[in-house]
Amino acid sequence: MPDPIRVRFAPSPTGYLHVGGARTALYNWLLARQSGGVFVLRIEDTDRERSTDASTHTILEGMSWLGLTWDEGPHFQSEGLPRHTAEAQRLLAEDDAYRCFCTPEELDAKRQAAGLEYRYDRKCRAIPRAESDERAAAGTPFTVRFRVPEGTTEWTDQVYEDIRFDNGSIEDFIILRTDGTPIYNMAVVSDDIEMGITHVMRGEDHIANTPKQILLYRALGAAVPRFAHLPMILGSDGRKLSKRHGATAVGDYARLGILPETLVNFLALLGWNPGDDRELMTAGEMTELFSVERINKKSAVFDTEKLHWMNGQYLAKKPAAELLPIVAPLFAEAGLMTADEIAGREEYVLHLIDLLKVRSRSTLEIPQQARVYLADGVEYDPEAAAKHWKDAAETSQRLGAVRDALAGVDAWEPAAIEAALRAAAQSAGVGFGKVAQPLRIALTGSAASPGIDQVGLLLGRERTLARIDAAREWLAVNAAQ
Ligand code: GLU
Repeated sequence: MPDPIRVRFAPSPTGYLHVGGARTALYNWLLARQSGGVFVLRIEDTDRERSTDASTHTILEGMSWLGLTWDEGPHFQSEGLPRHTAEAQRLLAEDDAYRCFCTPEELDAKRQAAGLEYRYDRKCRAIPRAESDERAAAGTPFTVRFRVPEGTTEWTDQVYEDIRFDNGSIEDFIILRTDGTPIYNMAVVSDDIEMGITHVMRGEDHIANTPKQILLYRALGAAVPRFAHLPMILGSDGRKLSKRHGATAVGDYARLGILPETLVNFLALLGWNPGDDRELMTAGEMTELFSVERINKKSAVFDTEKLHWMNGQYLAKKPAAELLPIVAPLFAEAGLMTADEIAGREEYVLHLIDLLKVRSRSTLEIPQQARVYLADGVEYDPEAAAKHWKDAAETSQRLGAVRDALAGVDAWEPAAIEAALRAAAQSAGVGFGKVAQPLRIALTGSAASPGIDQVGLLLGRERTLARIDAAREWLAVNAAQ
């Protein structure tokens, strides 16, 4: 049996968990789950100035919320510092790297003169070892640069296929800074070797790092992993997804009322498809269907409209009991019901959620819609009133008849409510809609709501009748004007 696949997600804790990072994490997670492999989480915190604990916390929280559990870690890159340094020193000792004594001023001047074409001119490559050792011993500051060999560096990317770099285009890059600390590529390669990573899947913005990393693997005598670079995520205007386009943090979507399973499904399809036009998939189905070969080279567009559509689909399917813990705090925040009140009327709230979830595209819309059922009165949507309450006197009279019919219903349940309304419509000689629509506005303030029988049930008989009375009073005032 081949060795298990070992993949990693290696975020830098310098901000929130970006949706692009979350997609990278997800694809790695799917590959590990599918192959019975190992998913390692590594926090790349070597940039001490920009890394924060708060950011690490946000990233871990975002991953847990999405359900992207890791098998190993979190490892912190900074903990490997002695190893990174020792390996860079080994490269120096073995002549795969050399000391560079050029001063920053000297390099700056050359950089300015060369402009965009600048590449280190390898001036210090030729310094004999004995002289280099002497200057270092005398305390002359230096960096350590990798000695890029002649030739080409190529790999078969699992997404972008054959990629080839002429080594002449790769500068002798620094691996240790003047203060002796290792540079990014050195730390990443050292860690990926140490952690036995077999597949590196990451954003395509890292393609330029890959040849340098491959050279380091070879110089260190380690097996080169397989690479898969993921296409960029764009906003609706075709530019790289950024704050300009709206929310880009996983946490923002949680606050906007997107379910984690929606976001996982949505992110999976940003650059990958299962080979047919299937869109809604559970994590289990995605794990089964996922294949790196089906990842697109083409950039993916983050379509917020589609995300909301998909969330509506997930909301409709999710049992009310599972939505309750998400929705209950929103009810409390909106001042609709306290946690205790919800606990006391759980069955009612579950019923309410069941009715409203199918009409919502975000969990936030559930309390928004619920207000009508929980508040004391309603406000009438002027447009709906203008359309369905055109003749105030006639409407009031019809509502009066409906009120009588409802007051006479024996058992207050949907079928009986509907039967009473049908009877009222029949005796008025009008269609059901002519009764239901004016009543719907009286009860909810708007022309769109769940079935009128369900609305009546949720309000209870007393409040249903009180709302009809209030509507008739309003109509009387309006008719008089
Ligand atoms: N820390 C890098 C980043 O956040 C990822 C490095 C890698 O995946 O190789 O972009």
